[in-house]
Amino acid sequence: MNPESLSSAALSPSSPLLLSARDLAAQVSQGQVTPQASVGAALERAEQMKHLNALISLNPAAQQQAQQVATRLAAGETLPLAGVPVVVKDNMNLRGTVTTCGSRMLAGYLSPYTATAVARLQAAGAVVIGKANMDEFAMGSSTETSAFGPALNPWDNGRVPGGTSGGSAVAVAAGIVPISLGSDTGGSVRQPAAFTGVYGFKPTYGRVSRYGLVAHASSLDQIGPLARSAADLALVMGVIAGHDPLDATSLDVPLEPAEGAWPSPLRVGVVRESLVGNTPGVQAALARVLAALEAQGASVSQVSLPSTEYAVAAYYLISTPEASSNLARYDGMVYGLRAAGSDVAASMGSARARGFGPEVKRRILMGTYALSSGYYDAYYSKAMRVRQLVAQEFARAFERFDVLVTPTSPFPAFRFGERSGDPLAMYAADVDTVAVSLAGVPALSIPAGFEELDGHPLPVGIQLIAPALADQRLLTLAQLLEQGGLLSQPGWGVGA
Ligand code: GLN
Repeated sequence: MNPESLSSAALSPSSPLLLSARDLAAQVSQGQVTPQASVGAALERAEQMKHLNALISLNPAAQQQAQQVATRLAAGETLPLAGVPVVVKDNMNLRGTVTTCGSRMLAGYLSPYTATAVARLQAAGAVVIGKANMDEFAMGSSTETSAFGPALNPWDNGRVPGGTSGGSAVAVAAGIVPISLGSDTGGSVRQPAAFTGVYGFKPTYGRVSRYGLVAHASSLDQIGPLARSAADLALVMGVIAGHDPLDATSLDVPLEPAEGAWPSPLRVGVVRESLVGNTPGVQAALARVLAALEAQGASVSQVSLPSTEYAVAAYYLISTPEASSNLARYDGMVYGLRAAGSDVAASMGSARARGFGPEVKRRILMGTYALSSGYYDAYYSKAMRVRQLVAQEFARAFERFDVLVTPTSPFPAFRFGERSGDPLAMYAADVDTVAVSLAGVPALSIPAGFEELDGHPLPVGIQLIAPALADQRLLTLAQLLEQGGLLSQPGWGVGA
């Protein structure tokens, strides 16, 4: 779909889906819109945008849950996300829904419980309308590895929406919901946000509970929100962040106060290693954001993080061993597709052969290899040392700079098939996002304009990175840029 056909599918000017999550919750709380009408509008929009394949399944209890929100409001409860329809990535458990992780292995797996982040959204009055399409087990950068077919980029249906939280990004970009949840192991919230023209945030590792998030690489996985505004990201973080005794890596540190926390003048470091290999449109977007920061009084200079050159290699040598160990549970016995076989081993082998797609199998093989005796020191331990160096370089840079800036991706959305035949080309697409994940620091992608390719304006995202635990401050900075009108409008394109 190009922007013209997007606008012909535009929402009516009275649709509650045109509102930000904050305004929609306010209207629902004041009784101007019922939770049922708000959820109904989202379900209708999901049907209208079905060709984008953003959702793997709908929540059969959505309307009933909207009714419960109405009851709670009538009882006088204050709900920050009252009646706000949301979509969550299909690797987050929601009791009573099917959680597939985009894999045949888990087709039909009914969640027996709800992930903490999702439960917190519900406690705040949000209603999950469906589960978002994703790369299989969150491995990929385009949603092309989904067993349910790829999601399509609303700006050009011949292009990927990014991955792995592609469905979560498309649901927001196409106006199905104002906010969604994705998960980010090496860029999976930030890169699809950039490719679809929305905001996406990866919190400090440990900020949001991973309880109920199906594990990919446990030392890197973080749940993060996607939204059409930085203000809505902050609203969602206020709801989902915080300590959870059910996740041993959950941080027991409160979100710091948002206001007045930035030093003045703000010291902005542009990461030198991220300045090469970008398309002209990405380079122009970066210049625009830096100019906007300077206009706010920031000082901008370059900083080098030399070890980030090895970040992609280190990321794939750390994430695949973790994934190979996490995915061992899908044996077709306790979990996953059951397949017939002459004995236990044959049955497990057959379940895995049929249940997993090629990329997941490749990761299991790579991860097992990197951990095997004789190769462990050469690969896994060396990658862990690179991870240390990357983290140290970020820490050192944050002694001189308050915030670091890079593109979110060196290029806008690529075409279907352009990278899927070449795993290394696909991995290389993560060049701007994985170092942040290795260091565990917070980062967000902001929409920063468009690059025209093949006659389609394609959104471009710029990444802002902050020191560990400075999540709120980072979101405040994004809101300042947004309020200043210094960035072009987010590209969700469904307005009048
Ligand atoms: N593209 C990266 C990978 O395939 C990141 C995935 C993610 O963040 N879940 O591992």
